[in-house]
Amino acid sequence: LDPVPSDIEIAKKQKPKDINVLAAEIGLLHEEVNLYGKKKAKVSLDVLNRLKDVENGKYVVVTGITPTPLGEGKSTTTIGLAQALGSQLNKNIFACVRQPSQGPTFGIKGGAAGGGYSQVIPMDEFNLHLTGDIHAITAANNLLAAAVDACIFHESTQKDEALYSRLVPKKKGIREFSKIQIRRLEKLGITERDPDQLTPEDRTRFSRLDIDPDLITWQRVMDTNDRFLRKITIGQSPTEKGKERTAQFDITVASEVMAVLALTTSISDMRERLGHMVVATSRSGDPVTADDIGVTGALTVLMRDAIQPNLMQTLEGTPVFVHAGPFANIAHGNSSILADKIALKLAGPDGYVVTEAGFGADIGMEKFFNIKCRRSGLRPHAVVLVATIRAIKMHGGGPTVVAGKPLAREYSEEHLELLEAGFSNPRKQIENAGYFGVPVVFALNRFATDTDAEVETTLRLARESGAIDAVCASHWSHGGVGAVDLAKSVVQATEAQSDFKFLYPLEMGIYEKIETIAKKIYGADGIELLPEAQAKVELYTKQGFSHLPICMAKTHLSLSHKPELKGSPRGFVLPIRDIRASAGAGFLFPLVGTMSTMPGLPTRPCFVDIDIDPDTLDVTGLF
Ligand code: ADP
Repeated sequence: LDPVPSDIEIAKKQKPKDINVLAAEIGLLHEEVNLYGKKKAKVSLDVLNRLKDVENGKYVVVTGITPTPLGEGKSTTTIGLAQALGSQLNKNIFACVRQPSQGPTFGIKGGAAGGGYSQVIPMDEFNLHLTGDIHAITAANNLLAAAVDACIFHESTQKDEALYSRLVPKKKGIREFSKIQIRRLEKLGITERDPDQLTPEDRTRFSRLDIDPDLITWQRVMDTNDRFLRKITIGQSPTEKGKERTAQFDITVASEVMAVLALTTSISDMRERLGHMVVATSRSGDPVTADDIGVTGALTVLMRDAIQPNLMQTLEGTPVFVHAGPFANIAHGNSSILADKIALKLAGPDGYVVTEAGFGADIGMEKFFNIKCRRSGLRPHAVVLVATIRAIKMHGGGPTVVAGKPLAREYSEEHLELLEAGFSNPRKQIENAGYFGVPVVFALNRFATDTDAEVETTLRLARESGAIDAVCASHWSHGGVGAVDLAKSVVQATEAQSDFKFLYPLEMGIYEKIETIAKKIYGADGIELLPEAQAKVELYTKQGFSHLPICMAKTHLSLSHKPELKGSPRGFVLPIRDIRASAGAGFLFPLVGTMSTMPGLPTRPCFVDIDIDPDTLDVTGLF
């Protein structure tokens, strides 16, 4: 239709097929599908074992140029491309996307189901609770947070012997260690397994974690943009006997449990990783983990269902996996390895899997390769780099684009000189993809206001900058039909010889790894470690974490650390404020500039438009 109706209106008009029909179409067995209502299902990890001998499909990652705050259509292109490959070119196809956080959905950016005639449906279910995975992550994270404070509390109020007998109580007259407690004994090098035979010294070592309350790094989380929880005081009740301390909430999608879910490869691997999550440092300087607290089994139980990918569909009935949703600026920004792996098997050797990496290629794509692919062992066949003329013009000096405000005239009129100047950003992002040796297809996501001359200029510049092909696509206004050229070009690109390589080897030092990313990907002259970051390099090297890959927490609005620097900035030094370790998820994350791990709500948040019709129960106002 012209004009294109709102996202939710389009989504509501299309009746999705029952999910068990879709599941049967894509070759899932009845027992591998756990229905959540009629339109969503969880898919059992057993598929991986059943199809272990099937050759994988072609693996395509969708990324983008540095965006405006409005988003440039990566999700829309992921879905549009999948629709074109599936319903137009008749290929076996899966799209893999992240589950959106309620922070942006009710805050500034809206949901992430794609848009126009390229969407995941039912889009209200997609954008709201889905199957509860984010709630499960919140529950697991906060159980661990409660356990850390309770542990400090009990250690401070009980004498050694009393503490030991409470941790290993007599059941029917017999004292026995639990499985998780035996892991702790192993870690401490205590070989005795009869609790009554431990020496008093070993009992103390076993029961006292001696956490330094000033060195607790584990924070509580929730999935709401709640700026007033950025810094809080906990333990103010007299029952906590003066254990008051400052703490903070982060948004759930920035949590390590979310990262573990996205990067895990099996239930036993997830258990292992949850157990290795570091929550604090002891007074003697040792890292204290979830395993030490004894909570790993319970965390895994809470995450038991969340580990299964969620099956949904596009507007054109092609399959979509929605699984995990780490933010891309303050986390690693990619959907789950498990969803991609299952999709690649179900797609089979003649099929395709299109997966999305969050924000610009300097952020989501770099982490996709260096963190996600390194862990999964999967090697992509092609990169699709999404751009809009609006964003390129902004990089060329166009007026600032602000969410919720009308766009300036420059964006609805032809301005070839802004386009030529702003192409420095796509050029750099194409170069960035090139560092990994994978062919790049440039996808121009066409807006109604783009002129033919602007489209031609953009595609020419993209080809001149090293993209294997550059295609204009109109899937937002036309659905899969609008992305047929893009789909054909992607099919061709996946046939090309790719020569995949990582940007850095894990054996490199922490400083050198961060410097490599800053210089090569961001175009920085170098990096500057501020004192806290310097201390962490020393601490993590001593604690044996220096071999981990790096997950930069940096603004997505510029290649540099300053959101106002557009294009491809040069001549800057990247300041690293602090470095944190996600030892369970398996990366170190340097904080660049002032990144907040808890977003706030704007003056006019999206929730103002969201409502429900009490008669039909239809949701309105989501986009
Ligand atoms: P990203 O994944 O890059 O953040 P999205 O795909 O979520 O971006 O798109 C952001 C918003 O822009 C969505 O509301 C979507 O409907 C809208 N949008 C995307 N492409 C177009 C287009 N070609 N014309 C108009 N609106 C678009």
